[in-house]
Amino acid sequence: MSTTPERISCLIIGSGPAGYTAAIYAARADMKPVMITGMEMGGQLTTTTEVENFPGYPDGIQGPEMMEEFKKQAERFGTDIRIGYVSAAELSTEVGGWHKITVDDSKIIEARTVIIATGASAKYLGLESEKRLMGHGVSACAVCDGFFFKGQETIIVGGGDSACEEASYLSKLCPKVTMLVRGDQMRASKIMQDRVINTPNIEILYNTETLEVLGDDTVTGARIRNRVNGEESVVPAQGFFVAIGHKPNTDLFKGQLEMDEVGYLKAVPGTSKTNLPGVFATGDAQDKHYRQAVTAAGSGCMGALDAERYLAALPH
Ligand code: NDP
Repeated sequence: MSTTPERISCLIIGSGPAGYTAAIYAARADMKPVMITGMEMGGQLTTTTEVENFPGYPDGIQGPEMMEEFKKQAERFGTDIRIGYVSAAELSTEVGGWHKITVDDSKIIEARTVIIATGASAKYLGLESEKRLMGHGVSACAVCDGFFFKGQETIIVGGGDSACEEASYLSKLCPKVTMLVRGDQMRASKIMQDRVINTPNIEILYNTETLEVLGDDTVTGARIRNRVNGEESVVPAQGFFVAIGHKPNTDLFKGQLEMDEVGYLKAVPGTSKTNLPGVFATGDAQDKHYRQAVTAAGSGCMGALDAERYLAALPH
């Protein structure tokens, strides 16, 4: 383990839209940010195909390509981008204190400000067929990818608010949406349940589990099983959406930063400030409601501006 820690004014953890946007702002403010990319460089967008809802790309852009553009823009202003992962964090509780961050289990960096942009990971069912058809009909974001299934039949798995919201979204584009709920009732709020129950082109199958997503190159349907009577059947569909929750990547900060029961970081409303001075929460790591690239980018900007103001207010 290296012994002399490097000291910097701004460390950004994560390389999705929130992290890169924070980097662009922090670098332009001469904070000389260092970014630790995380294992999935570029974040969740690198697992999507076409992105059509990010302003500024009127013809759409491939997710991985868009993240390359974000990266280039962050580098243009001098962000020091390092491939690696943060393995431990010892955050200071003092104003102006040094936050001790361990990278790749070996290198220690001490940072005056830390912008957390570690994102969230969509949960999947864990089926081999689901993995194989990811990006070829399987998606965990109807708002991002639903449009590609306009006029086609779709399946959505889950019974929470997200699944209901996404089923409603899909029902406006697709002639038929089949919702697969594993239990005998949904977990979603009553109002969201009522909305899907009262939408004629959404069919809800309770007590239903997915055995396999069908299709060679693209999704053609799903083989399902009724958990009560054991009956198996096939639902034809071209899109298979999974909406069974997300897990924010915040385990590193447990016990140090305030978070909700799922792990979403808590920030002072309207800011990116966490309960610790000099630590800022941005992107999906603190957002369970919107989870869009553009909202993550906006909150990354907030993180950098909050960090800049925090540094400016420290005694010199
Ligand atoms: P939730 O954790 O609330 O719901 C997850 C759903 O997926 C549950 O129905 C659960 O079933 C099901 N599920 C979990 N694992 C599996 C599995 N392996 N196979 C099949 N089904 C599975 O997640 P959401 O993303 O829906 O919501 C997260 C939070 O965000 C909630 O607090 C929600 O209220 C909030 N939210 C609010 C919105 C709004 O107000 N407009 C919109 C979206 C989210 P089971 O119930 O059987 O465990």
